[in-house]
Amino acid sequence: MEDFTKLIRAYALRNALDFGKVDAGRILPKLFAHGLEKSNIGTILPLITQIVHEVNALSISAREKAFGPLASLLPEHEEKEKTLPPLPDARQGTVVTRLPPEPSKHLHVGHGLSFLLNADYARSYGGKVVLRLEDCNPEKCTQAYADSIIRDITEYLQIHLASISYVSDDMPQLLDYAVRLIQKGEGYMCFCSQEQMRDFRHAGKECACRTASVEKTLIHWRDFVEGLYGPGNAVLRHKGDMSHDNHVMRDSVLWREVDAIHFRHKKRYKIWPMYDFYNAIEDSVMGVTHVLRSNEFHQRGALQQAIRLALDLRQPTVVEYGRFSVAEKTTKGREIRELVESGAYIGWDDPRLVTLQALRRRGISKEVLIALMHQVGLKKAEVIFEFPMIAAVSRKLIDATTERFTFVPDPIEITVSGAPTGLTEIAFPLHPNKPETRTERITPGVVYLSQSDWELYKGKEIRLLHGYNLRLHATKKEGTYTSTENKAIPKVTWVSTFALPARVLMDDGTWVEGKVLEDVASLKLGTVVQFERFGFCKLDKVVKKGTGHVYEFWFTHP
Ligand SMILES: [Zn+2]
Repeated sequence: MEDFTKLIRAYALRNALDFGKVDAGRILPKLFAHGLEKSNIGTILPLITQIVHEVNALSISAREKAFGPLASLLPEHEEKEKTLPPLPDARQGTVVTRLPPEPSKHLHVGHGLSFLLNADYARSYGGKVVLRLEDCNPEKCTQAYADSIIRDITEYLQIHLASISYVSDDMPQLLDYAVRLIQKGEGYMCFCSQEQMRDFRHAGKECACRTASVEKTLIHWRDFVEGLYGPGNAVLRHKGDMSHDNHVMRDSVLWREVDAIHFRHKKRYKIWPMYDFYNAIEDSVMGVTHVLRSNEFHQRGALQQAIRLALDLRQPTVVEYGRFSVAEKTTKGREIRELVESGAYIGWDDPRLVTLQALRRRGISKEVLIALMHQVGLKKAEVIFEFPMIAAVSRKLIDATTERFTFVPDPIEITVSGAPTGLTEIAFPLHPNKPETRTERITPGVVYLSQSDWELYKGKEIRLLHGYNLRLHATKKEGTYTSTENKAIPKVTWVSTFALPARVLMDDGTWVEGKVLEDVASLKLGTVVQFERFGFCKLDKVVKKGTGHVYEFWFTHP
């Protein structure tokens, strides 16, 4: 058997650089194109496992270094494909796509990617994208959620919206369409209990309400509109097919009564349309040409089509793609609301969340989401994001331009003897690939190291990164200057007595206290920097404390 070691290492490294972590399952299929025989799988698997293990243990810079000489072994990068597939039935200048959030929660990364996909298609066809706030659940929808959604879309994602509308403002029209549906004999008033109806739908049996005449249904409908029956006692159902294989077609509820104050229309309406009803109509009457949606809505599509057919409404072109979900992070509005309300999370922008607010506050740029959207495109299978994927894309985008800084977590003071007295400044490079430096003041007698570096290196000779060499005492927090020669000894981040207090909010919600280079005072709020040997962080706030300030950062990613 041919030696596949180098090739496996090359694939594993590229995978690790793209996704933050190697998945062994991604490597084996690639090897067949390089002549691996099926009979050799048993021999090759332990080798893959071993190499994946090694690569996962490497730091990012070590991965980059190791990948360089192996890159030429691999065929052109398949994931480089940046253009989305063409839309069916799309003509230049006429495409209209829509963003249909319900203002009952804040947006997460899945919404963000889907909205960017819609915006990207509209733009590439010279068309437009509209925002439609689907606010037909007065018990859950609020203006505050609507405002937050608009902010996320216009300020963070920077999508240019042709219009912003609220479905509830179309209520007169939606009520008219309901009457038309009844007149066509495709809707009926049902007075059965929920339990009864669940049994009927399960058994595929029709209820007695279904046979009422159009005239009688219209009379009941008028009473229903006035709220005469009370919530839960009557609904308008679609007259579908109670034995249909697709259960959505088994006489779904289209309108229900809700006793709640709507944030825009107060108590003006007693009844409200369900998702399939307003969605079907709005997509058609708003002039939406292309509905791009995840295939979890596939079953509902048939009902929406039937409603439009009954009302002689235009059918938009529907394009489905796999659902975007995020591994291990909660995206459910209800769960997040509970975590926020109980105080366990600091808000909807808590760094443990993948809401757009959280990503924005951590310093993930919208370009990262655009790159991810191009990467997943219109894949049919569910796409499960892991945060390391977001981090890997972001790192690739920002690494070359992000300034380096020093942050020493849990700093401890080390007394230094023997350092040249003339040494009062040290130049820190702004970036390893750039000649510019920042000059930091130092006192030759004292440096700060992190508690963990001290534990690791006491008794040994270390190099203060970008500075000089020091032999640490084995027990006492002291060190002796040795030289400035750049030799193969551990390089340790450090700061001087002029360093400023700083803290970083990590992605597990905990704070790490420390000290940061004095030059941090020149940073603008919102700037992302890379703390060497620590990770990318965004300056979030400068808080007054005593006579000075504490610089608060949010951890962006490693
Ligand atoms: Zn009934």
